[in-house]
Amino acid sequence: KLGNETVKAELGRASWKLFHTILARFPKKPSDNEREALKSYVYLFARLYPCGECGEHFRGLLAKYPPQTSSQDSASQWGCFVHNQVNERLGKQDFDCKTVAETYKCGCADAEEGDEG
Ligand code: FAD
Repeated sequence: KLGNETVKAELGRASWKLFHTILARFPKKPSDNEREALKSYVYLFARLYPCGECGEHFRGLLAKYPPQTSSQDSASQWGCFVHNQVNERLGKQDFDCKTVAETYKCGCADAEEGDEG
């Protein structure tokens, strides 16, 4: 049981890392097509997330708080907010959403103009 919890937590950390990094690198001025892609990604992520109870709960959160795709900032703030909803449910501390842009860098060379990281 303890082993399962450890594996579930590791999957969660890896998943959140990718999730927030994608949102932090989302275009500042996305096209309709990019907005549609992000929306699909989020719903498919929730649908296919390998931990069943987690996915089920997360789908409930999406119904209440639909993904925000109008800009990089709205998308990453939304992502931080929903992760905080999960944190709250699991009795974890609230994360300060002002730091997301700084925290989630991708180390990619093809950064958007004026971006670092
Ligand atoms: P995590 O919550 O994994 O966070 C990793 C790191 O991200 C933190 O150390 C911090 O640096 C940063 N961070 C924290 N909060 C935020 C935020 N709001 N915005 C941006 N960055 C942040 N586990 C369960 O036991 N039950 C569940 O129902 C469940 N549902 C989940 C649903 C989803 C969609 C996902 C991705 C994971 C879920 N998990 C669930 C796993 C759980 O959320 C944690 O990933 C796991 O418990 C490990 O927690 P952690 O304390 O290491 O930090």
